[in-house]
Amino acid sequence: MDKVDRIVQENQDVWKSRSAFFSFLKGLFRRGWSRHTIKIKLLKKHRKQIPNPNPKGKKPTVWGAECSVCHNVFPMNMLEVDHVLEDTASLTKLSDVQSCVEKLLVIVEDDLRIICKNDHATSTLSQRLGIPLAEAKIEQKVILFRKQNAEKQKKQLQSLGIDSIMPTSAKRVEQYRNYIKENRFDN
Ligand SMILES: [Zn+2]
Repeated sequence: MDKVDRIVQENQDVWKSRSAFFSFLKGLFRRGWSRHTIKIKLLKKHRKQIPNPNPKGKKPTVWGAECSVCHNVFPMNMLEVDHVLEDTASLTKLSDVQSCVEKLLVIVEDDLRIICKNDHATSTLSQRLGIPLAEAKIEQKVILFRKQNAEKQKKQLQSLGIDSIMPTSAKRVEQYRNYIKENRFDN
């Protein structure tokens, strides 16, 4: 029995298992990442005043920066800082602690990039599913499609000019995916 076993045993009301405790620990490291000095310095270095995208906004300009993937300019709240090498810092046992901390927190500026939320989601999905970025973009759209109810799915397929719409959601999702793959459009 190691220390983690003891922690779990003595705190069953908080952590039901070792893995629950390690998730908690990883959460602590992630919180450290969210306020990491090098991350904040990077954002300050690259931020600039951009036209306020909010038409009701009081100020004509706001702080923003360029996404390093799509090179569009976004206000700060649409941007995130990403680890370039996001081979995920896994933490499921004590011996993972060092590599997890190193990957997440022992970083130089080159390890990071500023990325818009949309590209970040695509990049995360591509890593999670182990598929190329272009395919992850398609899957993102498919995920949105799948979330809709049957009525909306059918309408969307109709609007794409698909006639023989399938009766089950799984098959409609397949139709939608095939359509996007055949008609790769970029938005
Ligand atoms: Zn982007």
